[in-house]
Amino acid sequence: MSLRAALQCCAAIFSESGDRCVIWAERVAFKQVLGLAATQAIIFFLLTSCAPAVRPVAAESLPTLTATQSIIVVPEFTPTFISPSTTATQIACDPFVEDFCISAGHFIFQNPIFRPGNTSVDITYRYGSTQDGKRDPHHGVEFLNKFGTPVHAAGDGVVQFAGPDKEALYSPWADFYGNVIVIRHADEMYTLYAHLSKIEVEAGDEVRAGDLIGEVGQSGVATGSHLHFEVRRGGDGTDYFSTQNPELWVIPNKEKGTSLGAMAFSIVDGNSDFQFAEFTARYHLNKNGPKVKSYYVVTYSKDMINGDENAALGDLPPGLYRVALKFNARIYERWVEVDSGKLTQVVFVVE
Ligand SMILES: [Zn+2]
Repeated sequence: MSLRAALQCCAAIFSESGDRCVIWAERVAFKQVLGLAATQAIIFFLLTSCAPAVRPVAAESLPTLTATQSIIVVPEFTPTFISPSTTATQIACDPFVEDFCISAGHFIFQNPIFRPGNTSVDITYRYGSTQDGKRDPHHGVEFLNKFGTPVHAAGDGVVQFAGPDKEALYSPWADFYGNVIVIRHADEMYTLYAHLSKIEVEAGDEVRAGDLIGEVGQSGVATGSHLHFEVRRGGDGTDYFSTQNPELWVIPNKEKGTSLGAMAFSIVDGNSDFQFAEFTARYHLNKNGPKVKSYYVVTYSKDMINGDENAALGDLPPGLYRVALKFNARIYERWVEVDSGKLTQVVFVVE
């Protein structure tokens, strides 16, 4: 490596602090004066000054939104502050009063995809998302999987519908879901499985959680093969606007044997009316440490609000999160905790 190439390399590493390279070049020159060959001097300084200084830069560029499929879990992690979760799960907690509340949630459904299939939802098109205005508000979640991946019943129930969606029974548009299955569960809960390539059940069949019901495909309005999965609540299950966020109803995935958690957010004004915002939840190993990962959150589009929340994140590594939200030029920030297999509720009252 020539001195010139090394200097260019150094400048690229320290793009925001060109001064370092000048100092570094001076040190190289100094070493040469001491009688060392330029290459030895460069290696010496790469080892002594460049290498350690690179670390903070690398930490800042850790995976963000585009790489969230691979979730980082640190099993050894023990919170360094007094965990509020022990009491939060035992006494009534009001998320309007507390910074956050942790409860068991209502994770009643199994994942409709089994591993080695992809059991994580597509984070670029979560429930309630319009993908930055590019698509219709999403009434379900996508499990991106290849053609033929087995699809399983999310819970015990009776098949209410199984076949091609020719008559717009479950959406305002005919052939929107393609080959679709709807299962009616207890308590007027329904799950819907769309874009299937193959259907293995018939209307009227009784199914148990985990039964094979079909295969992933691309029928109906679908880009690429995936399972579009919905949870509906109330009525006869046909109301397109009765959906709930599946990330708050499907049992969280496990990573390295540890159940992940979920957060439900309510961004409301003083009258408890939902407000719309984009914000971030940054995962930290401790309050003083750097963020490990960032999650970008967008509140649901207006017609998706059918519950207590207007934004949610599923499959979060247990630990500490710094939630930061900007509304009307004001910043709202706080620390919240996510517990394994639990639901954390966070309410921001904004002005
Ligand atoms: Zn979908």
